[in-house]
Amino acid sequence: MSRYTGSVCRLCRRENMKLFLKGDRCYSDKCAIDRRAYPPGEHGQRRGRKPSDYGIQLREKQKIKRMYGLSENQFRLFFKRADKQKGITGTTLLVMLERRLDNVVYRLGFANSRNQGRHFVRHGHFLVNGRKVDVPSYQIQVGDVVEVREKSRKVQAITDALDAVVRRSVPQWLDLEKENFKGLVKTFPVRDELTMPMQEQLVIELYSK
Ligand code: SF4
Repeated sequence: MSRYTGSVCRLCRRENMKLFLKGDRCYSDKCAIDRRAYPPGEHGQRRGRKPSDYGIQLREKQKIKRMYGLSENQFRLFFKRADKQKGITGTTLLVMLERRLDNVVYRLGFANSRNQGRHFVRHGHFLVNGRKVDVPSYQIQVGDVVEVREKSRKVQAITDALDAVVRRSVPQWLDLEKENFKGLVKTFPVRDELTMPMQEQLVIELYSK
């Protein structure tokens, strides 16, 4: 399944919550969720039927998948990998999603959204432990240092994103050296640190059918 290329605000409206897919706009009064808090489309304002269990599980999977900007195949692959590991599969899945390089770039404030983080990574703006990495799905490890390449430190979109990071703050498991365009992965996040409302157990139930 190919990547969604339509309006990302529609995705938030479909999931009935802010997924923070559009950077600055998500924090402004232009946010579509604040202005039209009902599902998109002709029948969006109609009262729907009570969803089935399957429908609820599907919506939760779609929400998390969209939050991290993944295609169905990519998301399912992450699930399969998480399922093979020891521990609670749902938590492992979320931690693996957080460990993606495009997400870490976003979390550190080098990008305004995960989507922008993915573009920046693909364009080769980042080093991990001193080596260029241009694969957005790259899984970072504890102790990794992610930094903006010297020649990319003047890219306006990156400096703008860094200036705006105070608004959402950098999570505890990362350490940002803003003036050096550098961030350290101190540890992996624990479940409680992932504060967006996500019911990963519903995804496990969906994929276990
Ligand atoms: Fe979602 Fe951001 Fe659009 Fe608001 S502005 S609907 S949070 S993508």
